[in-house]
Amino acid sequence: MKKFMFLVDRIRGMQDILPPESDIYFNAELVMRSCAEFHGFSFIRTPVLEFTELFNRSAGDSSDIVQKEMYTFEDKSGRSVTLRPEFTASVLRAVVNGLYGNAVWPLKLMYFGPCYRYERPQAGRYREFFQFGVEIFGAPLVLADLELICLACDIFNKLGLRNFNLEINAIGCLNCRKNYLDAVKKFFVSIKDKLCETCKNRLNINPMRIFDCKNPECKNLFKNAPHTVDFVCTECLNEFEDLKKLLEINNIEYIVNTRIVRGLDYYTKFVFEFVVNFDGTDLTVCGGGRYDNLSASLGGPDLPATGFGIGFERIVKLLQRSNFSKNKQKIKIYIAYLSENAKFVAAAIVSELRDLGIKADFDIVGRGIKSQMKYANKLDYNFVAVIGDGELNKNIINLKNMQNSKEISFNLDTFSKDIYNYLKKSFNKSEFDILNS
Ligand code: ATP
Ligand code: MG
Repeated sequence: MKKFMFLVDRIRGMQDILPPESDIYFNAELVMRSCAEFHGFSFIRTPVLEFTELFNRSAGDSSDIVQKEMYTFEDKSGRSVTLRPEFTASVLRAVVNGLYGNAVWPLKLMYFGPCYRYERPQAGRYREFFQFGVEIFGAPLVLADLELICLACDIFNKLGLRNFNLEINAIGCLNCRKNYLDAVKKFFVSIKDKLCETCKNRLNINPMRIFDCKNPECKNLFKNAPHTVDFVCTECLNEFEDLKKLLEINNIEYIVNTRIVRGLDYYTKFVFEFVVNFDGTDLTVCGGGRYDNLSASLGGPDLPATGFGIGFERIVKLLQRSNFSKNKQKIKIYIAYLSENAKFVAAAIVSELRDLGIKADFDIVGRGIKSQMKYANKLDYNFVAVIGDGELNKNIINLKNMQNSKEISFNLDTFSKDIYNYLKKSFNKSEFDILNS
C-alpha cells in the first residue's frame, strides 16, 4: 500500500503505542490495577498540569527533576505551570485539599498516567512516560511499607516477571539526616576537585543528590563515602530491622544497598528499588519509600506516607521479551457472511454472543468471503463461522476451529447458547474467565 507521511512529526522522546504491541500495555495496566484493587487500593486521578511550585517544593530544588527536567511554562494568565514529572506531590495535594477531613484512614490509593521529564531520550528513558503507583497515607508503621513491597512483588509475579532484585536502604528521619549530611558533605568537599560540574553544584545545595549522578567517574568516587545506615538513630535502625524481619517472614528476598538514596528530597526512613538486569544493564523498574514529612513541609497536616512508582515502559520492555500477552487465551469468534440475508443474521449473532460475554466480530466494510477469512486469520480469531444462503436454508451454522480446522455444526436458532456451553465445556476455567472479562 502507498505510504503516506504527515507534514508534522511526533515530538522527540514521546511515543505512539500502536496495535498489536499496545495489547501488552493494555493487559499490563489491567494486571496492575486489579492487583492493587485486590490489595485494597482505590483509584485516584489528578490533573497533568500543576502549579510549578508544587514540584519545586516537593521534589526539592536540588533534584535532577527540578534542576533540568521539568516542562515548565507560563499559562495565559502568567502563572508558572508544569506538566507533572511524577505523581506523589499531586496525589498528596489532592488528598490534603479534597479528602483529608472525611477520608477513611489509612488511605490506600493507586494511580496510573503519563509523566513528563525533559531528559535525553534513550532506551527505557522517554520525555513522556507512564507511571503506575500507589501511596498509603496515615499509616506510620513499617507494616505499611511491607504492604507496598508485597503488592509490588504480587504485580511482578502476576505479570510473570522473575529475576528482579529488591534493594532496600535505611536513610533515617530528619533528626539523623543532619549528622549524615554533615559527614557526607565533609567527604565530598575532600574530593571536590574530582567531581563533575553538576555534582560540585549539588554539593552546595544537597550533597546527598551526588549519589544520583549517572557519570561513571563520579560513581567510582562514591565507593568510600559514608553510608546512611551508619548514621541512623536507634529508632530508625529498629524499624529497619523490623522491615527486614517482616520481609523474611513473607519469603521476600532483598539486598541492603546502602547507596540508594532516591532522586527526590522528600524521602525519609526507608527507600527501596526493584532492579532488573536487562541486556547487561541494571534497570530500576520500581522505586519508592517513606515520606512522612512531605505533607507538613508543604503546609499540610502531619501525615505519615509511603508509596512507590513503577516505570510502566520499562515493565513493558521486559514483557515484550516474555510471552505475557501471548499466554492469555482470549477466545474470539469471527462471523463471516456470504449473502445479503446472511448479513442480517450475522449482525444478530454477533450481538447475542457479546451479550453472553463471548468476544465476537464481523465484517463492516462489505468484503468478499476470502477477504473476511484473511482478516480473521490476521487478527488471530480462534473460531470462524461462515453463514450463507445454504446454511440459512438448512438452519445450521458451522463453527470452524482455526487451529485444527475442525468444524462443528450448530442449530442456528440456539447457536449462541450452544456455543457458549460448548466453549465452557471445552476450555478450562481460567481460559473461560478471560472469555467473560
Ligand atoms: P532514574 O534514576 O532512572 O532517572 P528516577 O529516580 O528519576 O530514575 P523516579 O522518579 O523514582 O525515577 O521514577 C520512578 C520510575 O519511573 C523509575 O524507577 C523508572 O522506572 C521510571 N522512569 C523515571 N524516569 C523515566 C523516563 N524518563 N522514562 C521512562 N521511565 C522513567
Ligand atoms: Mg531520573
